[in-house]
Amino acid sequence: MTAAPIYLDHNATTPVHPDVVAALLPFLGERFGNPSSIHWAGRAVTGAVEEAREQVARLVGCEPGEVVFTASGTEADNMALKGVVSALRGRGNHIITTRVEHPAVTNTLLALEREGCAVTWLEVDGDGLLDPAQVEDAITDRTILISVMYANNETGVLFPVREIGEIALRRKVSFHCDAVQAAGKVPLDFRGSGMGLLALSGHKLQAPKGIGALVVRRGVKCHPLLHGGSQERNRRAGTENVAGIVAFGKACEIARTAMADGMLRLRSLRDRLEEGILALIPGAAVNGHREYRLPTTTNISFQGIDAHSLLMALDLEGVAASSGAACSSGTVRFSPVLAAMGRSPEAARGSVRFSLGRGTTAGEIERVLVLLPRLVARLRR
Ligand code: PLP
Repeated sequence: MTAAPIYLDHNATTPVHPDVVAALLPFLGERFGNPSSIHWAGRAVTGAVEEAREQVARLVGCEPGEVVFTASGTEADNMALKGVVSALRGRGNHIITTRVEHPAVTNTLLALEREGCAVTWLEVDGDGLLDPAQVEDAITDRTILISVMYANNETGVLFPVREIGEIALRRKVSFHCDAVQAAGKVPLDFRGSGMGLLALSGHKLQAPKGIGALVVRRGVKCHPLLHGGSQERNRRAGTENVAGIVAFGKACEIARTAMADGMLRLRSLRDRLEEGILALIPGAAVNGHREYRLPTTTNISFQGIDAHSLLMALDLEGVAASSGAACSSGTVRFSPVLAAMGRSPEAARGSVRFSLGRGTTAGEIERVLVLLPRLVARLRR
């Protein structure tokens, strides 16, 4: 491999933005204090945590006091689901979700099912879309929570969260939205939505790994997951990850100011990649609705191809992408997302996700369009 590597797996994680690195470094050095301390060392960091809270709130369109910092998007999802179930135990045990959520939601709900919750798993259509009427039809007088993601991590397909929010408000049911893949890519308006809770993750938007947030609307009942000190106004115990929080705030600020132009550029690169692949490679098909989708993601099935072989061939050429198939103990489990969309096991086996980000260039996309037809043809032979 001689050419520079190409990273097209931004839905897995993103490189940390250089300005974010610069913002966090002092908090690994001279600004080391504990924000709960009242002396000079503590005071040197408290303001930074609160500024980061405001930066996150501005990206999401919520009040700073509604932001609870967590250690990951996964923790935020766990807190939302387990916290609401614990708080509303007396009122009901029914939860509505979809078959295409991230494992952070799916596996938490499976655990809650084992503890006595009843979960309705809504189907999506062949394009990965959800009809909001399905949510309304599923509500019973025992329903305490709706959990539907904003954008799907494998296909980028967007969900009708505005309509679901209206239903949730009208039917007085809490609505949790996993917005981990949407934040920084599409404008969020927590305040004007019917959402009660919203999960975020720093490393998907150019902050480091290990920092996330749950936005909890004032008045929404959600018990803490972690007990201990009184950090985060008693909603999340544990000394704050100050450097991570500062980095997350800075990354949100950058995402908010760069979003409009950045996403236009990435949409056109994504479309160029997708149209190029469809034109140059016979037997390639896009998974997911081509309009209601994140501007950065394309998921493509290559007929007669095993995605793992293609990803390895791409990797040898320095190109990083991913597939929805997970391999454990020698058996391959195909993407539950593509299965829920009614894709055949063959199509799921040959599906590759390309996800673009801030660093992606037109030159990189052209290089992939030269490489990919050659690799697919070789694998098919
Ligand atoms: N939710 C979605 C939609 C995701 O894509 C991810 C990460 O891939 C998560 C939740 C989990 O976030 P984290 O990696 O911060 O735990």
